[in-house]
Amino acid sequence: MKTFTACILLTLAAAVHCMPVADITEVDEALAESYLRRFFNLTEESGPSVRRRISSFSLKLGEMQRFFGLQVTGTLDEDTVGLMKKPRCGVPDGKFGQYSTFGSKWQKNNLTFRIVNYTPDMPESQVEDSIEKALQVWAKVTPLRFTRIYTGTADIMISFGARSHGDFYPFDGPGNTLAHAFAPSPGIGGDAHFDEDETFTFRANSGYVLFMVAAHEFGHSLGLSHSQDPGALMYPVYSYRNPDTFVLPRDDVNGIQSLYGQNPDKNPEPQPEPPTTPDACDLNMVLDAVASLRGEMLFFKDSFFWRSHQQSYSPQQSLITNFWPDAPTNIDAAFENRESDSVLLFKGRKVWAFRGYDIAEGYPKSISAFGLPKKMKKINAAIFDEQNDKILFFVDDYYYSYDALKKTMDKGFPKRVDETFSGMTGKVTAGFVLRGYAYLYSGPNMFEFSMASKRLYRVLKNDYFLRCTNY
Ligand SMILES: [Zn+2]
Ligand SMILES: [Zn+2]
Repeated sequence: MKTFTACILLTLAAAVHCMPVADITEVDEALAESYLRRFFNLTEESGPSVRRRISSFSLKLGEMQRFFGLQVTGTLDEDTVGLMKKPRCGVPDGKFGQYSTFGSKWQKNNLTFRIVNYTPDMPESQVEDSIEKALQVWAKVTPLRFTRIYTGTADIMISFGARSHGDFYPFDGPGNTLAHAFAPSPGIGGDAHFDEDETFTFRANSGYVLFMVAAHEFGHSLGLSHSQDPGALMYPVYSYRNPDTFVLPRDDVNGIQSLYGQNPDKNPEPQPEPPTTPDACDLNMVLDAVASLRGEMLFFKDSFFWRSHQQSYSPQQSLITNFWPDAPTNIDAAFENRESDSVLLFKGRKVWAFRGYDIAEGYPKSISAFGLPKKMKKINAAIFDEQNDKILFFVDDYYYSYDALKKTMDKGFPKRVDETFSGMTGKVTAGFVLRGYAYLYSGPNMFEFSMASKRLYRVLKNDYFLRCTNY
């Protein structure tokens, strides 16, 4: 495979930032064609017209790009190929919007399930525990109740199999398709099949957490199809989440309750509020943190972040743990250290550093490693001024200056923020440095300062960099 290096001119000081960009190969094109056939109903056009074949390919590709919130070009690019390579569910996509349904549901609330066979990847008791917990995800918010049977035909037959496994939808070996399930109906309807060529796990974030995959598949077993909401359990791409703290997101709750209604239990155990996915079009949103990373910008909010390339018009939203399984969520601050090619995430008294997808050695560590007072509970924002090798930490109305070369806190700090950044009203909640300017957020507003003169240039809104591209 041929690779080349794309260099992006980032600062006026002509600092050049390079990152490897994979070329689109014939293998990728073949992958794209089979992906669109499987998940977006790309069909063979009748007749020998090559032109018609190409146009239906790019039409379907555009549909796929729209579904995943990518830039809709109808041509194969790196982001699109990257998404096609991610592990996912084998059920086709295609309906747009938030949750959607297959149009069929069970006509009863008491359903049976049977574990037909086991995966050798984990002890049987862990398989059983994962399956039962995954069903409870749906039972908690509906009148549906599940009873396990050990012989005969259950509504939901659960099995593990590789390649051809008795239906017309053979699995694809390791990676890509992890599982599939069938919409409610007699016979194969409701059944869930797991690809035995994958490595399933109970808790660890290496391999695929069976609980997460099963909870998604049971959504299909009960009548839900895929959602475009990247925070939804019914989003087609697999994402790692901690099974111990998982709460069914709002979009999925709305979907399943549209079919079966609410849980009628008089005194249900109190449940945490279903999480909703942050919306880039919400002009009042207060971001947790903003950072650059390899020429892109990252905007953090709750369990999510948006990635935005300066040239691309639509930011792509994903779960933080999809990128960095070991990362905290609801972070306080973040910045990029280009010298060590890493991004640092702050939460409470701790800081994490990631290089690529991996946590850097020695992390997480205490924020006091940056010379911050030991009793400090958290910071609000951090920016890295590369021109002067200073890291600025914002805490309430004050900021600290850490010398990244000398690795010590500068003397005379903390200082009041408005002493240096005159015109900055309110607490700094997030910030980053780009092309010699500091962008300091205070709530939904963003203040643009020259790093050299510290002069305030403009007061902008959240959406200046994080564009709203909902349709
Ligand atoms: Zn699915
Ligand atoms: Zn199957």
